[in-house]
Amino acid sequence: MAGISDSQSSMHSALSPSYGISSDIFPGLFDWFFAHHVFDRWCRDRAWQLHCAGGPGSGKTTLAALVAKHLEAGAQERHLAVVSIFIQKDVVAYETSFLEDFLEIVYHKLGDSWACNEEDEEDFDEYQRQRYGNLEGCRASRRIHLIRKAVYSRLETLAKSARAFLVLDGIDLCSSTLYLLLDMELSVLQEKGLCILLTSRIAVFEQLEARCDHSNHGDAPDDDPIEEKDREVLDLFLLCRVCESVLCFNCRDAGRICENCDDNDALYEPYDHVTIPVNVCPPSELKQFIAWNLEREHGDLGLGSPHPRKPPLSVLGRSLRADRTSKSAEVLVDRIIDLAYGNVSLAKARLDLVHEAQSIVQIEARRDQLPANIVTMFDAGIKGVEAQSPTKRDLGLKAIAAASRDDQGISIPLMQRWLHQSISVQTRSGEDILEAARGFLLATPDDNPQKIRLFNTIFNYYVVERYSQVIHRADSQLRADTLRRKDSSYHEMQALSEPRVRFEPMNVSEEPTEITPYKLLRTTTTMDSIEEAPSQPFILRKGTRAWY
Ligand SMILES: [Zn+2]
Ligand SMILES: [Zn+2]
Repeated sequence: MAGISDSQSSMHSALSPSYGISSDIFPGLFDWFFAHHVFDRWCRDRAWQLHCAGGPGSGKTTLAALVAKHLEAGAQERHLAVVSIFIQKDVVAYETSFLEDFLEIVYHKLGDSWACNEEDEEDFDEYQRQRYGNLEGCRASRRIHLIRKAVYSRLETLAKSARAFLVLDGIDLCSSTLYLLLDMELSVLQEKGLCILLTSRIAVFEQLEARCDHSNHGDAPDDDPIEEKDREVLDLFLLCRVCESVLCFNCRDAGRICENCDDNDALYEPYDHVTIPVNVCPPSELKQFIAWNLEREHGDLGLGSPHPRKPPLSVLGRSLRADRTSKSAEVLVDRIIDLAYGNVSLAKARLDLVHEAQSIVQIEARRDQLPANIVTMFDAGIKGVEAQSPTKRDLGLKAIAAASRDDQGISIPLMQRWLHQSISVQTRSGEDILEAARGFLLATPDDNPQKIRLFNTIFNYYVVERYSQVIHRADSQLRADTLRRKDSSYHEMQALSEPRVRFEPMNVSEEPTEITPYKLLRTTTTMDSIEEAPSQPFILRKGTRAWY
């Protein structure tokens, strides 16, 4: 049987069947995710896809790799077959080849499963003849038809003895046309029994709000039901096909039945996917990650991270431990948490700087600026916005500029009004805006109307403090265009917007030591140097992915 390696050389270059988990990754980083009730239900249920949505640097690829590892552990005993696929760069060309190769990887990786034996490979043999044996080549629609058939029959074989899972990372890197195609493909694969988890920078644009209708919800007595507005919004629920009332899983598990129909025969889950937002890592996990990372590099700082063998104290480690009463190490951990605003990559970038410092004073000397490595990460991400078609690029940059007017977000109708005075192709919905901004913007589904805001407060600072010239230009143009059309609302909101990042110093308890000028020059970038010249190239540490 031909394996992935045989055909890998001709695979679409954006596709990878594996992703090595870097040694920089704290294994407990996503413990909160694995304990999430929605993840638990997804593992046991195949009725809907699980979407993990988070902005740049929130650790989605790591999460996908960890989920695959989690499922693969004991796959045979638990009767699971696991396929993971990582999309590694933008897919804007050869989309049909992408789709074909995607299906071929699914086919091969399902075949690697312990559960896949004694099957009929006739369909795949025919595909191979057409793909590799046909000298003048066979048309794409025929090839895709054949590989589809092979995948479907393999899924049918597997379904007799196992449950098959697909973990797909980075679906947002697909062009919007390919995204739609792939989405349809995934729906069919799901019907054929594949359980699907995917990660994306952008959550599906929608606004669903369901609350349980049962009068005893929350174990309330018959004569004193909880008011509807006080009932929690549900991410998982059952809907009655007959009377359209909502029943939560807690009520169903407590034996309650649809009050209008007197039975639960018509209950079903009315959604095809459920989203777990992964934009913000909870502080407790972030804290453990930072402590683990610091002690791995600098020795036992008294942070209690779970390393079997910590290295001897580094120079910085000794500096941090010198004065135990002021708890410098704990203060440093809290400070990194404060400056990351829940973003894993921002925490990691701060840690990289800490590792280069010789003392707390050196760390503090940089506190009021965005470090060069963070500026470099944001710059790389903005290049991805710029690399789109001219109309999308214009929309994306102006939308980012507009969203920075208010760190709580701008309502979609207002943002569309502003944008439509300045762009050439009108947006049809907030989805167009989110897509053009490549994950740097997110919607707030709990607001009515929904708002669009920047994905992270530090990124807000980057935009408002004009670290990016292209966004600054987009902002000036938007302001000029709206003023020209006698709409002063954009201009006026400018005055209200102040970056709310707190860069105040932490307690420094030791005597200042000499700061190496070279190091400061290399690792910090000030506003002025950006205006004069492009920021200096900065080498990212191993394991830190660029945000293209
Ligand atoms: Zn309920
Ligand atoms: Zn009913």
